[in-house]
Amino acid sequence: MIPETTAPERLDFIREIVAADIAAGRIRAPITRFPPEPNGYLHIGHAKSIALNFGIAAEFGGHCNLRFDDTNPVKEERAYIDAIERDIRWLGYDWGGATLHASDYFEQIYDWAVHLIRTGDAFVDDQSADQIRETRGTLTEPGRNSPYRDRSVEENLDLFARMRAGEFPNGARVLRARIDMTSPNVTLRDPVLYRIVHATHPRTGDAWCIYPTYDMAHGQSDAIEGVSHSLCTLEFENNRALYDWLIEHLPVPSRPRQIEFARLSLTYTVLSKRVLLRLVNEGHVRGWDDPRMPTISGLRRRGFPPEGIRDFAAMVGVARTDSVIEYGQLEYAVRAVLNRTAQRRFGVLDPIKVVIENYPEGQVETVEVVNNPEDSAAGTRSVEFGRELWIERDDFAEDPPPKFFRLAPGREVRLRNAYFITCTGVVKDAAGRVVELRCSFDPATRGGDAPDGRRPKATLHWVSASHAVPAEVRLYDHLFSRPDPGAEGDLFADLNPDSERIVRGAMLEPSLVDVGLGETVQFERLGYFTPDTDSRPGALVFNRTLTLKATWAKVQAKG
Ligand code: ATP
Ligand code: MG
Repeated sequence: MIPETTAPERLDFIREIVAADIAAGRIRAPITRFPPEPNGYLHIGHAKSIALNFGIAAEFGGHCNLRFDDTNPVKEERAYIDAIERDIRWLGYDWGGATLHASDYFEQIYDWAVHLIRTGDAFVDDQSADQIRETRGTLTEPGRNSPYRDRSVEENLDLFARMRAGEFPNGARVLRARIDMTSPNVTLRDPVLYRIVHATHPRTGDAWCIYPTYDMAHGQSDAIEGVSHSLCTLEFENNRALYDWLIEHLPVPSRPRQIEFARLSLTYTVLSKRVLLRLVNEGHVRGWDDPRMPTISGLRRRGFPPEGIRDFAAMVGVARTDSVIEYGQLEYAVRAVLNRTAQRRFGVLDPIKVVIENYPEGQVETVEVVNNPEDSAAGTRSVEFGRELWIERDDFAEDPPPKFFRLAPGREVRLRNAYFITCTGVVKDAAGRVVELRCSFDPATRGGDAPDGRRPKATLHWVSASHAVPAEVRLYDHLFSRPDPGAEGDLFADLNPDSERIVRGAMLEPSLVDVGLGETVQFERLGYFTPDTDSRPGALVFNRTLTLKATWAKVQAKG
């Protein structure tokens, strides 16, 4: 079920730890960090982590660093760094000051690797990656010591220096911690700390051909930055012992603490950069920012406001057990914001012409329309009304079924904020399809009310035909057709073939030309819409952000 409130009622377990650390005088204020690897765009799962790290820092008067975990030059790109920074800012968070990088600390981390060699806690291993894997053992069997494990300190120092100097090809040697090949925690079985990678790094260029592993770089970077609480997802739980081992065995300037929380999973989508990259590379979507993607940039292009994403993060909270959140919860949070903030406009997606036969030819009048009934500060606007209008094709039925209360021959409906009209006839083309509706209007109903108090059962939206601007409208549905994509086989076979439906020839009220990128409006009765980045003057493109109601979405998706 969707909770009614978005405000957390009590502290989650991480905030409790932080509060206790402050109360006990262990810290004055928390330092956290958000540590993305620049190998893809941020997704809504990252937003949860961002909201948590920046949120805790703000609530307890601390600070949150943005630190790129750029230790794998093969997969990392400058473009990803820029996109990640832009997305975090757009979400509304500020890391104040410099952006940090694990690569800023490469020299220090290298010195600490040398320190571990000197204390006998690390050694250079000549085994191949395959051999290392084969001798690592399993959850039930211990691993076996490397034949190179007892090299002298001098030999290790020499080999490690030559690794750095570029004397060896990729994979020829690694530096490993010397811990315990029989540890029940496989992570502690002499983990790899450095590997040889001859690749140009986006920031350090060709200065290095050896790179620290995640484990070697992460905790040490935390310690350098004085991070007090290093928050990560549950898959790193086993790495915590190694995190602590390295902090204990190195002369680091502070002692950060790793705390794990459950990662966000959402129905009908996939939160994995690896999979998202494939969707982009294999052309299943328009790009990382495709409005169907669960990326921050995709949600932005779709018209989701950052406030809605922040509210969603607060709503799902943090816990230590993995769970899958209904996509509908995200939509709920976004609708709640848009209902408050989005200005109402008229747009007709599938237009059919209405000609009001008793309305004077050539006459135009303007009617005043409230911009947002939820926000009186949003004011009113003038909308042109004339003899020829567009209304929604499915708001008319020539032969109305039982519960159809909208326009039909002989029936009166209200045109929102304008007049009551009655259908007096239809015009058909050669194929017998209705192409135009002939109507009459009641001049006494101006503004949408009848002096005699009669109330039509339906109120329709409309656009003046001589003022309307045409547009392409893209309607979106879930990217995958199952709530658990890939659960029964190939993930890509579960892609929803109807995730995007393109409507050409929609007719919009002219003020929609002025809606800027990043602004989301409500087309009355149809949902929330935002201009797409493909939109051009004279060739407008709007995306449907969401339908107005969740149930409506289901009905529409079938139709
Ligand atoms: P992916 O699995 O999508 O590739 P990742 O964990 O490799 O993501 P990173 O760039 O390393 O991506 O993640 C940066 C931070 O975001 C990490 O602290 C990570 O734990 C967190 N994070 C990533 N995915 C999620 C998620 N689904 N829910 C919550 N936090 C997440
Ligand atoms: Mg990662």
